[in-house]
Amino acid sequence: MAEKKRPPSNLIYLLIAALIFAALYTTVFTPNQKREAEEVEITAIQNLYKEGQVKRLEFEGNTVRAELKNGTVKKATKSDGDSANDLGFDRPDLVPLEIKDTTGQAFWAELALSIIPFLLIVGLLFLMMRSVSANNRTALSFGMSRAKEFDKNKSNKVTFADVAGSEAAKDELTEIVDFLKEPKKYLKMGAKIPRGVLLFGPPGTGKTLMARAVAGEADVPFFSISGSEFVEMFVGVGASRVRDLFAKARKNSPCIVFIDEIDAVGRHRGTGLGGGHDEREQTLNQILSEMDGFEKDTNVIVVAATNRPDVLDPALLRPGRFDRRVVIDNPDLKDRLEILKVHVREKPLDKQVNLDTVAKHTPGFSGADLENLLNEAAIRAAKEGKKLIDQKDLDQSIEKVLLGPEKRNKIMTEREIEITAHHEVGHAITGHFMKHTDPVHKISIVSRGMALGVTWFLPERDAVLISKEKFEDELVSLMGGRVAEEIIYGPEAVTTGASNDMEKATKIARNMVTKYGMSPLGPITFGEHHGNPFLGKDLLHEKTYSESTSQQIDREVSNILEKAFKIAHEVLAKHKKTLMKIAKDLIKKEALSREEFESYFKDPKAAMA
Ligand code: ADP
Ligand code: MG
Ligand code: ZN
Repeated sequence: MAEKKRPPSNLIYLLIAALIFAALYTTVFTPNQKREAEEVEITAIQNLYKEGQVKRLEFEGNTVRAELKNGTVKKATKSDGDSANDLGFDRPDLVPLEIKDTTGQAFWAELALSIIPFLLIVGLLFLMMRSVSANNRTALSFGMSRAKEFDKNKSNKVTFADVAGSEAAKDELTEIVDFLKEPKKYLKMGAKIPRGVLLFGPPGTGKTLMARAVAGEADVPFFSISGSEFVEMFVGVGASRVRDLFAKARKNSPCIVFIDEIDAVGRHRGTGLGGGHDEREQTLNQILSEMDGFEKDTNVIVVAATNRPDVLDPALLRPGRFDRRVVIDNPDLKDRLEILKVHVREKPLDKQVNLDTVAKHTPGFSGADLENLLNEAAIRAAKEGKKLIDQKDLDQSIEKVLLGPEKRNKIMTEREIEITAHHEVGHAITGHFMKHTDPVHKISIVSRGMALGVTWFLPERDAVLISKEKFEDELVSLMGGRVAEEIIYGPEAVTTGASNDMEKATKIARNMVTKYGMSPLGPITFGEHHGNPFLGKDLLHEKTYSESTSQQIDREVSNILEKAFKIAHEVLAKHKKTLMKIAKDLIKKEALSREEFESYFKDPKAAMA
């Protein structure tokens, strides 16, 4: 959004404070004697002087002030030109005489005191008027595009070098840069300049960054607006903003128009439930007709970004519109390392920090997540008064980002701690004995977020495909927590601590049956069919299978879960002693690392003890 010209409210407060201060100053801080002095004739003072009652005299301009020995103060006005001697005050050795030549100063002080409040009031009025007229202006310019323009000469120019990884996307976009730089080369070949590029990928993967980098590389202006800005209170505003935006862009060609989060306007038309979709439709139509209206050689490229390509209106994706699609996915191990390197540039790092490990421990993190992670680490280091960010800061930040902040002061009874420990070790041991699960990275009974404890499995490499065996083994270790509770405390004593596990397990099992065809029902997906578009695409899901199939699916899901439960039971019954031993140590230490955990299984004595 373009900034509104509102007078900063701080300034108003400052003015009010200054006013109050000025008022206080005039009343309170005016020297006391000045107010208390009794006005008398000059002769009265002369008499007092002769009687020796005057302690001190002060001349200030034509004012004579006499401080008497009894503490009172009298003042009188002498005539111009009379000196102390003329008036008979001739014993400065007995009565100290001070002549303040402050005529000028007093004048300025008085003037300032009387004028400052006036100026302040005028200033205040002025600011108020300005804010009113600024509001009027925004009201009138409602239909204008609020696109932010990034000047190509600006110092914060972004180039491909600032976008780590995403090599494939960069390759595709290099072509766009080339179009912007040398359109003639392509026009001569009879090629049409592409009009729209759609970037899509999960949030935080650097789509916005990439779009700016394209503009930076091509050295052209960049107009950016977010889809949600088109959708305003008043009908018709979106469309008129689009018109204005494209008019501006044409004037500045070659340039890039960037529409962020285009799904806000570009949703499937006719699917809006709950009103407001007419407006969206008009806005979308306007975008489409503007893009169609480009001359063959108009060198304006519209880049749009979304993380919901599935909901976009097909009309947007037609040739001649956003026909170029560039996928920007979550970074893989190599790219994560690159991104980390970009963002540690301005951070003081300990020499021993190993960014490789950090990259390894953060599968599924987006670029924005990684940036956030490094920021968390920097905050931790600063909080602890360190000079450099070390590995521990990074590790702790990963945990915080992944699992939520630790809640050390959450009060758990001793029995709750004990149950939690057995539960978590149950997950870990079952996971350990299954072939296809990821290794245990850490077990902890410090509660975080909603969880009382956590067993953290960490993949050694990013998984691309997940096998049926892996799902089955994961289910076993998900069951491990509940099963451990049962084995130690008996089936009646199981707690609610496993509800989240059950939910996850059920979801995996259900997907295995209905999505991946990994059940005896065969290689078939039981999809959910999106309903009538006029009833809202996202709201209505319609089953595509019959009631009896539905029962079969339920039966298969529960078969899968039961099998996992049985295996978990076998494993933990066999290793009950180890379970108890590790749980006991876990209660003492609160957390066990991978090495500590695995040591129970390497040394047979430790396991048996
Ligand atoms: P998106 O628009 O895809 O949601 P952004 O472009 O807003 O994501 O990215 C958010 C921030 O994450 C960026 O400002 C940048 O600091 C960081 N980031 C994301 N991806 C990368 C990357 N590939 N290289 C460097 N920084 C990245
Ligand atoms: Mg973005
Ligand atoms: Zn659990």
